[in-house]
Amino acid sequence: MDFQLSSEHRLFKDTVDRFAKEVAGPLVEPSEEKGLFPRELFRKAAVLGFTGVLYPEKYGGCGPDMIAAALVLEGISRISASFGIAFVVQCSVGSETIYRFGSERLKERFLMPAIKGEKVAAFGLTEPKVGSDAASLICKAVRDNGQYVINGSKMFISNAHMSDFAIVAVRTNKDAPRGEGVTLLVVDREESPYETHPLKKMGLHGVDASEVVFEDCRVPVENRIGKEGRGFEYLLHTLTPSRILIGAVALGVARAAYKAALAYARERIQFRKPISGHQVIRHKLANMWMETELAELAVYRAAWLYNQGKSHAKEASICKLFASEVANRNAGEAVQIHGGYGYIKECPVERYFRDAKSLTIVEGTSEIQRNIISKLIIQ
Ligand SMILES: Cc1cc2nc3c(=O)[nH]c(=O)nc-3n(C[C@H](O)[C@H](O)[C@H](O)COP(=O)(O)OP(=O)(O)OC[C@H]3O[C@@H](n4cnc5c(N)ncnc54)[C@H](O)[C@@H]3O)c2cc1C
Repeated sequence: MDFQLSSEHRLFKDTVDRFAKEVAGPLVEPSEEKGLFPRELFRKAAVLGFTGVLYPEKYGGCGPDMIAAALVLEGISRISASFGIAFVVQCSVGSETIYRFGSERLKERFLMPAIKGEKVAAFGLTEPKVGSDAASLICKAVRDNGQYVINGSKMFISNAHMSDFAIVAVRTNKDAPRGEGVTLLVVDREESPYETHPLKKMGLHGVDASEVVFEDCRVPVENRIGKEGRGFEYLLHTLTPSRILIGAVALGVARAAYKAALAYARERIQFRKPISGHQVIRHKLANMWMETELAELAVYRAAWLYNQGKSHAKEASICKLFASEVANRNAGEAVQIHGGYGYIKECPVERYFRDAKSLTIVEGTSEIQRNIISKLIIQ
């Protein structure tokens, strides 16, 4: 049993951490103000291979390597969970089904430019009336003259406002049994325009989450990923590993909150000593550290299983569920340890607290992760 990163992964981690601090760090405030992700960050990350960690060299990547992907997500999210979410979409759910099931032409047009950071991806599954029960999606597409015509809308879609293309799940057969009759289309925004309406939200202000509206949106049949009606099955192949990456985002937030709380507790004097000298605060910090370490084990174990080609569905759900709940507990305790300052906008823990909440919701809520785990262990 080896719990250490390889020397290559250690070097990679150093590069990620330096990039996060020096390149991503200065972009956090402006993007939080604008409510949008800074797209130049993908181009800069691509030069170092960060956007291609899940894909082979043939398509411009440097993987597939889930441990490296988790290192990217953890490192970036220590600086900004918004950036972390944008990276998960770009590198995983917004491109992986094209890699696994799409034609070479789709890979050339969309996957390769996404890996180079030249095109921004979005992923549209959730709808105004359909969330956790994704198999019931309503947004429909009908065939007409070598094209699909999409009508309907998608909800809470990350980075949609910035996107150049979106992988969209549409219903192509309303009479098919549950889980069937769903098709994945790559919608090129220039060729098949769609409207995006960014939503005002509690946190994750550095990336938009938008409603996306398709009105008689015509998409060429060759933009279909794989076979018609098989979309839901394809999605499961990408949503499962992607939970490891959301776990890594949560781990980044949990660690950032712990670090900020520790630094503040060491410097803040009350009752003539640093508050880190009060036993109650020491115990809070001990719990935060312990849970962050456990979240790290869960995330990298799931990533390791993925790299070994072993089954990882249960572990991906466990790490997403546990790390996102730790991120929430740590961010809450970090605010508490900062006292009044923790409630003020300039204090980074205030942002961690708001951002952490999203992580128990996106890509399957905590309740749904518990459903998945219980189904896998009880059958
Ligand atoms: C910031 C943000 C970004 C997002 N980005 C994207 C994106 O890029 N692409 C995309 O497609 N979606 C995205 N989403 C949507 C996200 O995946 C959904 O919000 C999530 O899957 C939950 O769906 P819902 O919001 O419709 O809640 P619902 O499914 O309506 O659930 C409401 C509540 O009921 C609970 N619940 C539902 N069913 C069950 C059950 N069977 N057992 C127990 N409890 C249950 C849920 O856990 C939740 O607490 C994003 C959401 C947010 C907040």
